[in-house]
Amino acid sequence: MSFSRIIGYERNISLLRRSLATGKLSHAYLFHGIDGSGMKDTAIALVAALFCSGTDACGECPSCRKIAALGHPDLHLVQPDGAFIKIDQIRELQKDLSYRPFEAPKKACILENAEKMNPSAANAFLKTLEEPPGDAILILTTTHVDAILPTILSRCQQLRFPPLATETIASLLRETGAAEEPARIAAALAGGSFERAREILEEEGLQSRRILLEKVAALSLKEIIPLFTTAEECAKDKDNALHLVDLLKVFWRDVLLDRSGSAGITNTDLLPMIRSISARHSLENIMEKLERISRTRQALTRNANPRLAVEVLFMGLADQ
Ligand SMILES: [Zn+2]
Repeated sequence: MSFSRIIGYERNISLLRRSLATGKLSHAYLFHGIDGSGMKDTAIALVAALFCSGTDACGECPSCRKIAALGHPDLHLVQPDGAFIKIDQIRELQKDLSYRPFEAPKKACILENAEKMNPSAANAFLKTLEEPPGDAILILTTTHVDAILPTILSRCQQLRFPPLATETIASLLRETGAAEEPARIAAALAGGSFERAREILEEEGLQSRRILLEKVAALSLKEIIPLFTTAEECAKDKDNALHLVDLLKVFWRDVLLDRSGSAGITNTDLLPMIRSISARHSLENIMEKLERISRTRQALTRNANPRLAVEVLFMGLADQ
């Protein structure tokens, strides 16, 4: 992993490169932004560049190879163990960091999902930030910066990884050879993440989106069994259900745009289906469906049962 693989966050990368070149790296960083923005890859690239015997992570030397395999003895990774990062994990990290580096110039730690430190872990980690053992570099990543203790925030240099603009993602996809329409649709569905957009294109995500949306559009309250089985298929877990809800949100927004005669439809390849649905619904009706979709999303983020939440949503979206 090298900096050249990080797409869309050139300003962060050039800041890190400059700090590396001038020997002015901070001892602690907090990367915060959206899922799929490449925060962890950036953290790994930074450590690789720091440890590499060549320049800027050559990818060839023993150090770069060990980092690529996440098996470097001086790179410590901390991830949530279940729902939380626990105090025992922080104590173990503190012990590891207290030794001299085995082969790298310094020790490094990447602590993922830093918002998941429980209070005792966060307080223990604060001590490490206040008195970093040896010359270690600590890199935290989080998608929920508002859940990080202010005392931790203030001791880290912060770098933001915000959602990328849809047009930026689309043009990056076109640069990698994607055709115009799929690039635009995948970019619009990717929630600001280039990585996610690439996955949508590569996993034939556009085709499975079409099948899914067609299935949901065909649901009717007169046939309740298919409604339940579709909900079961689409809501195997929370991520699954959130993905579905996000697709439906964009789709019904398209219906709204079509109904009100506005431009900017995302799913242009599904125009006939969008037209036929918009012709059958009033504006109020469409707004009400969008409202239901956004309530379902909220419920899911608050850990509602995915299958039940999607069943209720389908009943609200289905034809009478
Ligand atoms: Zn190297």
